[in-house]
Amino acid sequence: MIKEKIVKVETSKRMEEIISLCKRRGFVFQGSEIYGGLGGVYDYGHYGTLLKNNIRDSWQKSMIQDRDDVYLLDSAIFMHPTTWVASGHVGNFDDPLVECRKCHNRMRADHILEGFGISADKMPIDFINKELDKLREEKKLKCSTCGLSDITSAKKFSLMIKSNFGSPTDELKEENVVYLRPETCGGIYLQYKNTVDSLHPKLPFGIAQIGKAFRNEIAARQFIFRTREFEQMEMQYFIHKKDTKEKYEMWKDVRMKWYLEQGIPKDKLKWYKHEKLAHYASEAYDVKYDFSSLGGFDEVEGIHARGDWDLSQHSKFSGVDLSYYDDETKERFIPHIVETSAGLNRLVLMFLDNAYTEDNLGGEKRLFLKLPKQLAPIKIAVFPLLRNKPALVEKAKEIYDILKTYFMCEFDDNGNIGKRYRRQDEIGTPYCVTVDFETIEKDNMVTVRDRDTGNQERIKINELKEFFAKKF
Ligand code: ATP
Repeated sequence: MIKEKIVKVETSKRMEEIISLCKRRGFVFQGSEIYGGLGGVYDYGHYGTLLKNNIRDSWQKSMIQDRDDVYLLDSAIFMHPTTWVASGHVGNFDDPLVECRKCHNRMRADHILEGFGISADKMPIDFINKELDKLREEKKLKCSTCGLSDITSAKKFSLMIKSNFGSPTDELKEENVVYLRPETCGGIYLQYKNTVDSLHPKLPFGIAQIGKAFRNEIAARQFIFRTREFEQMEMQYFIHKKDTKEKYEMWKDVRMKWYLEQGIPKDKLKWYKHEKLAHYASEAYDVKYDFSSLGGFDEVEGIHARGDWDLSQHSKFSGVDLSYYDDETKERFIPHIVETSAGLNRLVLMFLDNAYTEDNLGGEKRLFLKLPKQLAPIKIAVFPLLRNKPALVEKAKEIYDILKTYFMCEFDDNGNIGKRYRRQDEIGTPYCVTVDFETIEKDNMVTVRDRDTGNQERIKINELKEFFAKKF
């Protein structure tokens, strides 16, 4: 196994703070850390998994449950190798690689050029090398790690990850290679016909799936923004060609609305229009979010009008007719596609970036995650004021047992109350419930503390469920 050395590159202070919080509080860990780590691979701890699942569920609700024209699919990661020949990935899914001859730091040439304001996304390698030469002459081309200027020319580097799945030999040759899927939508095209034949949906309709994708990224160094193993949430909407513009605009609106509903401020979102389109595409926009941890706007989702390229190619390579017959118009045609494609892990970083808040509460500096309530990993934490008073502990456990059947809750009796608040604030828990002496001796009421304001109110135990049902 080739293990990439984990190169330490400069990260922003905010990114370092987020990485540190993620590790300290059990959101995200470096993959294989006890063996020195594996570059571009991360594992999700308890709270990170809960947060990621909540983002996923919110996407799924808006794409499936709230609509009646999109169906789910969960296709396998391993797919017939011809899939990726037909889609063009085997021949063309690459990024321009340059390397520092001194420290062997590998960099994406298009990203270097973009740093100088030169638009280089998906541009031909000759163009990229010409632009790099100009920077070289101007002595502007420098290694991002060691700062020296001995940088190679750019060459194409395939992002496809190969495996010997099902191969009778352990050699990796073109004829026995099975790829790990570089995007989830491939499975949707291959199961388009089975979906139509089993569910009989009328056009327009969509197929959505959430799952892992793998790319041999040249430089996977921005924490969970760009990793070699990641999750995508993709939807392919099958339409008649004449409806492309209307449906494209509809999906742009639907997706932007979702970001706003999840509490991302309007001014931190923008559309980026791709000028250089694939030959089959008629429109491509990215949703960009203003990452304070990355120092500016970057892509979180792409929305693409892909024409009939995908189904035509798979029809051609498989020999299976993937046309659609419209009963009403008596027309037979290959549907066109509008795609929405978001990175789940990138969205985890986006929500952490947006939620990371420092303020002053009661004269003390504090750090908290101002996550939208619906995405918070833990909704309610329940504490006894003191852990060594059995009556308080018993009552708090009783309340916890009731609330946890309705909400994701946590019982905490570690340390003092101040410490518990700090921990729950850093996890982003919207409400903490404390059982104190008055609860058991006097009024059967508990203190409910609000994460964002620090305000506390007394609520009757038998009204807690109602109270929280209104909040969530
Ligand atoms: P980039 O130009 O940043 O390499 P892309 O334009 O190739 O990305 P798409 O193929 O359009 O990305 O993928 C759709 C979405 O999947 C992206 O908007 C992003 O959220 C997510 N994504 C793509 N590559 C990665 C990765 N290596 N790590 C995490 N998420 C990714």
